[in-house]
Amino acid sequence: MYTLLTKNGHARRGEFKTVHGTVQTPAFMNVGTAAAIKGGISSYDLVDLKCQVELCNTYHLHVRPGDDLIYELGGLHRFMGWERPILTDSGGFQVFSLASLRKIKEEGVYFNSHVDGRKIFMGPEESMRIQSHLASTIAMAFDECVENPSTHEYSKHSCERTTRWLYRCKDEMERLNARHDTINKHQMLFGINQGCVFEDLRIAHMQEIAKLDLDGYAIGGLAVGESTEEMYHIIDMVEPFMPAGKPRYLMGVGTPGNIIEAVARGVDLFDCVMPSRNARHGHLNTWSGIRNIMNAKYQKDDTPIDEECDCPTCRRHSKAYLRHLFKANEMLAMRLAVMHNLYFYNTLMEKIREALEQGTFPEFRDRYSTLLDTRI
Ligand SMILES: [Zn+2]
Repeated sequence: MYTLLTKNGHARRGEFKTVHGTVQTPAFMNVGTAAAIKGGISSYDLVDLKCQVELCNTYHLHVRPGDDLIYELGGLHRFMGWERPILTDSGGFQVFSLASLRKIKEEGVYFNSHVDGRKIFMGPEESMRIQSHLASTIAMAFDECVENPSTHEYSKHSCERTTRWLYRCKDEMERLNARHDTINKHQMLFGINQGCVFEDLRIAHMQEIAKLDLDGYAIGGLAVGESTEEMYHIIDMVEPFMPAGKPRYLMGVGTPGNIIEAVARGVDLFDCVMPSRNARHGHLNTWSGIRNIMNAKYQKDDTPIDEECDCPTCRRHSKAYLRHLFKANEMLAMRLAVMHNLYFYNTLMEKIREALEQGTFPEFRDRYSTLLDTRI
């Protein structure tokens, strides 16, 4: 259940109650694709890094180790040793982006596994069953993430099919949540808005899916190649049609600046592989911009990555040490860098929430929106 606490313009400070605890929003969900955060970050690290929600990928876990196995072992929370909320995506995005030889039919999608090439079928019911096996807190509806560019005609047909799939997802989840042998009988369902870059399709689809009174609503199919301006424009268009009493999730976004701008437009939840992926390449977020730790100027720099950061890495280590670890290909380089970036993102969300509570979010946005995405 979502409670709106306060607003600054369109930006919302809220609380989202789940069976695995309350999420303070706006929040950034930390991406643990195959039940692990890449870079050697464990579930107990995530608590220190102020992570509120971990996101795991249905498709990856279905292919390996298999959702049946995770179900047998008591569900994903127990499997990973993580007690707080977990959101699982529907598998749709990976089916459409990773899998080869896919064929989309009304019943679902036929494709070959990217691991061993074996044939897999996934439709709304299969996605819900897998996510029910994983026993995540929040399950995402199975949708088609339309490629950009796509024609208006194709996008329209795809949106209509995604809506029909959503009804099937909702029915299947209700059936599964009522079963005595379901691990999480309070699993929630979020619907996903699609429509490529077409305003009329985006709005019509949002109005259609809002009728279902789901637990939350996501905007999908963005950050897939369109310009930042186009992305912000679509959020501006769709937001008035998103139910105010439900959390709003912008999928796969983004940079600190993107997040601040989307919060300003009324979004509550985010996820992105960017902080961990960038960290593994030595690109580190700081409160004065993005640093490349491989830069020669840090060779003898005895100060932390960011003087303002009190993450486990910055509390103990210098830029010179981290640069050395990267140069020497030490595994510890990845771990320390990812810890810093995730802590930065989770702290960014904390500061956004504080600014909203104090009514100073517009000043926060002016100060940081561009600055945090600048390379220094
Ligand atoms: Zn740090």
